[in-house]
Amino acid sequence: MMFGCTRRKCIRTVGVLPVVFVVCLVAWSYYAYMFRFYPKLVYPNSLVQSGLYFVLLHFLLVMFVWSYYRVVSTSPGHPIKIVAVPPSSTRLVPRGIELNEGVRRADYPPPLIPISHVADSNMGSGDSLLEEESDRGYTAVSLHREDDEDLRASARPLETKRDGGRRFCTKCNNWKPDRTHHCSVCEKCVLKLDHHCPWVNNCVGFANYKYFYLFVTYTMLYCLFIFFTMMGTILWYGGDDLMKGLYGIDFHTIMLFIVSGIFALCLLVFVAVHAGLISSNKTTIESMEGARRVRLEDNSVRLARHVNIYDLGAKENFLQIFGANWRLWFVPLPTSLGDGHSFPYNRETYRSLLEV
Ligand SMILES: [Zn+2]
Ligand SMILES: [Zn+2]
Repeated sequence: MMFGCTRRKCIRTVGVLPVVFVVCLVAWSYYAYMFRFYPKLVYPNSLVQSGLYFVLLHFLLVMFVWSYYRVVSTSPGHPIKIVAVPPSSTRLVPRGIELNEGVRRADYPPPLIPISHVADSNMGSGDSLLEEESDRGYTAVSLHREDDEDLRASARPLETKRDGGRRFCTKCNNWKPDRTHHCSVCEKCVLKLDHHCPWVNNCVGFANYKYFYLFVTYTMLYCLFIFFTMMGTILWYGGDDLMKGLYGIDFHTIMLFIVSGIFALCLLVFVAVHAGLISSNKTTIESMEGARRVRLEDNSVRLARHVNIYDLGAKENFLQIFGANWRLWFVPLPTSLGDGHSFPYNRETYRSLLEV
């Protein structure tokens, strides 16, 4: 116990360092650009150009810092602690767990609720349903659009363990909803865990993935902006003039040019990879897992190896994370759909698994 507390405190302390590093790097980049490079940005008729640069730089900086703050400070989402009490007032206990007196191992999972009988719900009424369902040991139902038959969320977990039993975290002593994984750094289960990111000292999961993606995208744009506006100046004046006449050998200017170029390139790859994951509705973990076990209506368990049951098509996949209101797509405000405990699944893929 003592060791656990020390380790947690240690991780928390060390985990802050990358965040401090990022903040210092941003502050330095702003200083180097605005106080070393920008004042000497003398183009012919440069008023409009330098004004445009000023506005664009500050816009990107505000969006990037805002997104960063949101991803650092927002909990990725953790599963509701479920005390599973079936109608017979015995608790559901997964295999491998010691049984206490008065607790019996119930058949698991409970009988399926036909999809057509699943209560409809939208974002607004999600909370009450969540409580009601969690009391029954099920996760909440969350629908993307009530009128879309093919976008129903599962009323109960689809994913199962290797032996067909319900996924359970022995470290948290709690059920694991679909797409939930345990983070060994945070020592908690995280809804739709993507990965633990040391640069934000937080897990990236269901509730903050949008902020994370906006953060890396705006950071990339910020770096690209700095790199290309500096390159424009170099090309305009010629390398020699920049070095000798305009700026001299200014450490901050040269370093910013190099650092922004390297960061822009790395982040470009990162943004592209995550764009691919978003369009196919996969997390980083899921893209590496390759296969998952799915329990179907007939209570059989299938190994979905080369299909992603959550893939609703690129457009719907995008809307799951960025929301239905296009005005808020690129603003770091909470617009992701659902509750993180259950997810809409592709009915065609589901049917194809039934036919296997
Ligand atoms: Zn856990
Ligand atoms: Zn974590």
